[in-house]
Amino acid sequence: MATAADCEGLLRQVGLRVTRPRLAVLTAVHEHPHADTHSIIGVARDELGEVSVQAVYDVLRALTDSGLLRRIEPAGSVPRYEARVGDNHHHAVCRSCGAIADVDCVVGVAPCLDASNHHGYEIDEAEVVFWGRCPECKESEAR
Ligand SMILES: [Zn+2]
Ligand SMILES: [Zn+2]
Repeated sequence: MATAADCEGLLRQVGLRVTRPRLAVLTAVHEHPHADTHSIIGVARDELGEVSVQAVYDVLRALTDSGLLRRIEPAGSVPRYEARVGDNHHHAVCRSCGAIADVDCVVGVAPCLDASNHHGYEIDEAEVVFWGRCPECKESEAR
């Protein structure tokens, strides 16, 4: 898990000025993988006191553009953010509660599926989402 100092280093690495909101948001996403904007705002407010929703949106965009965060948006879900970047991992999403778990890519690099017909396109990614029910939801339905 990345500490605040690690996160500071990450910001510098990509040439972003270290600010308290950036640090708070980046640390929050490291601590809460796949968090949505609403919960990130909550964690950032705990850390910073008052911070505007727009400021958090701006920080999330800057961090995503710089490659420090990855934005995922499973169908029917609000955008979620994670700090696990640079690998081509996928997600398992629970249809009942929306819980998300990381699934390593078997191949490791995109595109991990070969299109049966690429229609002349230069394919660089296959978006894979595994849908199902998480252990908690499976458990509660069995009872
Ligand atoms: Zn579930
Ligand atoms: Zn993930």
